[in-house]
Amino acid sequence: MHLLVTGGAGFIGSVVADQLLQAGHRVTVFDSLIKGYRAAVPSGATFVRGEIHDRSALEALMTAGKFDGILHFAAFIEAGESMREPGRYFQNNVAGSLTLIETAVAHGISRFVFSSTAAVYASKDAPLTEADPIAPANAYGATKLMVEQILDWYARLKGLRYAALRYFNACGATPGRGEAHRPETHLIPLVLQVALGQRSHVEIFGADYPTPDGTCIRDYIHVADLAQAHLLALAALDQHPRLILNLGNGAGYSVRQVIEAARQVTGLRLPAVEKPRRPGDAAILVADAGAARRLLGWQPRITDLHEIIASAWEWHRTHPHGYVAAS
Ligand code: UDP
Repeated sequence: MHLLVTGGAGFIGSVVADQLLQAGHRVTVFDSLIKGYRAAVPSGATFVRGEIHDRSALEALMTAGKFDGILHFAAFIEAGESMREPGRYFQNNVAGSLTLIETAVAHGISRFVFSSTAAVYASKDAPLTEADPIAPANAYGATKLMVEQILDWYARLKGLRYAALRYFNACGATPGRGEAHRPETHLIPLVLQVALGQRSHVEIFGADYPTPDGTCIRDYIHVADLAQAHLLALAALDQHPRLILNLGNGAGYSVRQVIEAARQVTGLRLPAVEKPRRPGDAAILVADAGAARRLLGWQPRITDLHEIIASAWEWHRTHPHGYVAAS
């Protein structure tokens, strides 16, 4: 298939683009490079720089290349930032996605795989299934939920086949690709920046949550496993026109446990300092990904937190400045 990967210069999108190429697909990456890196785009992919809200750029792209499907990653993704600047999130994530979907449907593209999030759910102290209550704690999660709803209307009205994949906490690295957000706000890369001596300490955002050690609990899923589910979902759209699936390991780790695991992996002390809560954080988000396993035959392979952090550490050690030196 010829596949359009928006956000294919970003962390998850670039790993998916790489796996698609390895599976024999043709890939075009469309990315603004506001958050992504040109150096993350696999060399076998065609690269087009552009914004998802630029209808004429999308028209030109979809007229020039006949796409069999779209995998849509391009988005702003920081929960904390979305609580300070909601307008940017609604504009980019919702309005931009609507433009992309509308243009895709006008061009007869019928397969759409969407990068959604566990942030659509309310906090729960047990694994979340897709049937659990939807109640985003932050504007970021709300934007992803709105795009899921838009996709559902296009499925009903225009025959679009879609998969909304609700990621829990993507992390880890593949040999060529790792997590390098700018600015970095994610826990594991921040801890590893302490290990690299680039930060004096890691901050723990809230030690008064209703969890055993008082810090938030998340489900950390390796980016290669997450990416694999996209290829399976894309193929499954032929049998299942509408897929809404959680992608996680089903194991929850607190912020303190993640920091402790990083200490063990790196052999370093990694100072941590308690800070107030970050607005918009749910206390506990852990996946029940049974539906993805059953429907897609998905089987995450790197499920041990230490192994996940070790893969990230390997990438950060060998790319201490992320992609910057390579760009
Ligand atoms: N977190 C933290 N310190 C940091 C960054 C994150 O304590 O410097 C916490 C954050 O509050 C959340 C968890 O770590 O409970 C995971 O946050 P991250 O931003 O990595 O992912 P999110 O869960 O927001 O998608």
